[in-house]
Amino acid sequence: MGIISALKCRECNKEYSPRFIYICEDCFGPLDVQYKIDTTITRNTFESRSDLTYWRYFEILPIEDKKNIVSLNGAITPLQKADNLGNSLGGFKNLYIKNDSVNPTFSFKDRPAGVAVSKAKEMNLSAVGCASTGNLASATAAHAAKANLPCYIFAPSDIEDVKIAQALSYGGKFVAVDGTYDDANRIASVIGDSNGYGIVNINMRPYYVEGSKTLAFEVLEQLNWIVPDVLVIPVGSGAMLNAICKGFEEIMNLGLISDISNLRIIAAQPNGCAPIVDAYKNRSNEVIPVEKPDTVAKSLAIGDPGDGLYVLKRLRQFNGIGEKVTDSEIKNAILLLAKSEGIFTEPAGGVAVGVLKKLIEENKIDKDENIVCYVTGNGLKTTESITDLLPTPSSVKPDIRLVSAMIR
Ligand SMILES: *Cc1c(COP(=O)(O)O)cnc(C)c1O
Ligand SMILES: [Zn+2]
Repeated sequence: MGIISALKCRECNKEYSPRFIYICEDCFGPLDVQYKIDTTITRNTFESRSDLTYWRYFEILPIEDKKNIVSLNGAITPLQKADNLGNSLGGFKNLYIKNDSVNPTFSFKDRPAGVAVSKAKEMNLSAVGCASTGNLASATAAHAAKANLPCYIFAPSDIEDVKIAQALSYGGKFVAVDGTYDDANRIASVIGDSNGYGIVNINMRPYYVEGSKTLAFEVLEQLNWIVPDVLVIPVGSGAMLNAICKGFEEIMNLGLISDISNLRIIAAQPNGCAPIVDAYKNRSNEVIPVEKPDTVAKSLAIGDPGDGLYVLKRLRQFNGIGEKVTDSEIKNAILLLAKSEGIFTEPAGGVAVGVLKKLIEENKIDKDENIVCYVTGNGLKTTESITDLLPTPSSVKPDIRLVSAMIR
């Protein structure tokens, strides 16, 4: 399994032995998992595995003993060549959608939540939980159910009804906070620390973020180890974007790819909550929190993003761009993706596709580039977000003549 050498401070590089700690004692920087690199790993090590879950990359995931893995057995998600979408955007021939809407709880959050709940089991914690913008609630609750652990969820009360019902169905205790995600996050943090619960995206964060690296590993394996030119990534806290970058670096350090200098990273946020993109556009190194996020993309409504500064750093490192789109652009992008590729995403995926479209229209992406657009959640959870753009089906008596007249 993944042999952890240390937890290393992202700011001051101080190293800690692996334990239940998530912030540097000296400088309060976040801690990242470092591995003892297994030099015998080759491309074939992974390619030859029959395990189709993301645990096929277990050497670079932070679980020491396989018996602690908590898995809902979701398979590697499709990397769909998106020629129809590419054509409608002006002849893009190498455009791919990483379709993470088809995970067991229908968002990419099954990756980080699955790893964090497994680690909570390995550390013998008595309960798990999360602060959620919607999707993490179900991902954590479902894995907690499988692990037989109690699960405490803290989320803003205005998230989509389906996301609440889904999380409750898995048995999660759902606290609907009348406030923003940042309010829910503060409460979850205190409850977690005072009770010793593993709050997956707070005190388990060093382990949590490792799960999202598999979004890099899978894409590389699916592209036959060709490093894409452009990644379009929706951003809330920024943890996923940063983890994907760490994933590409780790595969390079293992020697399975030789160079990632062509890689460009696009951070995509909604207009109604774009603190990171705004900092990028203002050439500022300060992420000014958005007090009251207001966007149809509720899963990205994090006003004070934990990894904001690190996303800015990644954009500098990888020649990146930050861009944002309006609610209307988001909804139209949802329908564009659905009608061209048969993929139904929630607004976060609409943010990624909408930003891709916008940058193509501004000639910031070339036709011959290899593009991967991450679609991270499922449209079935958020149907109310697009009903105003859809026609109302007219009803008719079950009479062939009447129906024939209708569809003519
Ligand atoms: C949480 C979430 C994101 C953003 O992930 P961060 O790590 O918070 O940046 C993107 N898409 C969906 C569907 C999400 O649920
Ligand atoms: Zn430090």
